[in-house]
Amino acid sequence: MNKLGVHALVWVGGWSHAECERAIAQSAELGYDLIEIAALDPSAIDGAFTRKMLDRYKIGTTMSLGLDDSTDISSGDRDRQARGEARLMQVLSVAREIGATHVCGILYSAFQKYFKPPTEAGIAGSIDVLRRIGEKADKSGITIGLEVVNRYETNVLNTAAQAVGFAKRVGLPNVKVHLDTYHMNIEEADIEAAIIECGPMLGYFHIGESGRGYLGAGNIDFDRVFRGLAKAGYQGPITFESFSSAVVNEQLSGILGIWRNLWEDGADLARHAKGFIEAGMKSAHEAHARSMRVD
Ligand code: MN
Repeated sequence: MNKLGVHALVWVGGWSHAECERAIAQSAELGYDLIEIAALDPSAIDGAFTRKMLDRYKIGTTMSLGLDDSTDISSGDRDRQARGEARLMQVLSVAREIGATHVCGILYSAFQKYFKPPTEAGIAGSIDVLRRIGEKADKSGITIGLEVVNRYETNVLNTAAQAVGFAKRVGLPNVKVHLDTYHMNIEEADIEAAIIECGPMLGYFHIGESGRGYLGAGNIDFDRVFRGLAKAGYQGPITFESFSSAVVNEQLSGILGIWRNLWEDGADLARHAKGFIEAGMKSAHEAHARSMRVD
């Protein structure tokens, strides 16, 4: 069974003690197995308090972030590469403190629009850093997820096939591919086939609708998404990600371009998403089991 998660931005834009407790309590109340905490600025996370709240409400956690221009490990620039490695190491120490099982997102480049393609030297530098990050993460049992995002948010990994090739070059069992339906809808020719082709390299999964609002209110064919996950035998977390101008994290909402109000009530949104994902995965697993049966 996949663990189901919900992104913290469904609830809160920041991570003050009050926001931390509210986001964790509401995720737990709806029966989610984990909350994904936005870690663009890991120094803003009070690890001891967050751990206490996760324990109090009995829910797991993962963390996600993207690097920025000054910490871009794919830049080929030694100073920025060193700052990026330090940032990722800092995130790992918070992840270890709060008991996060996965650290994922745009960990291999800046999370921004690029105006040039990456260089081979830049990619090689990113892979070197991620190998050290992966080795460090492994000591705490943490899986690293390299999130494949659309061309306007990175120039390095835009397709599942690129990410599989990149993760193989890193060459560690805990450094895996992280897919997101919102981005796949933009870049993949066949979402179901892309999921299946990742096979055991798939380590984290984001479910988001084409407009980033309510599941089912956009144009993504989720039957094919769930079928792909069932056929791939994917066992990792499935996390619901949605953004509205109703909940603002200035840095993250700005990069993502969250200008419209797609929902007001995060609880109603997250309750609906959980039912949608559970029903979709159940019927996909049943259909897959039927198709495998030999009569
Ligand atoms: Mn995502």
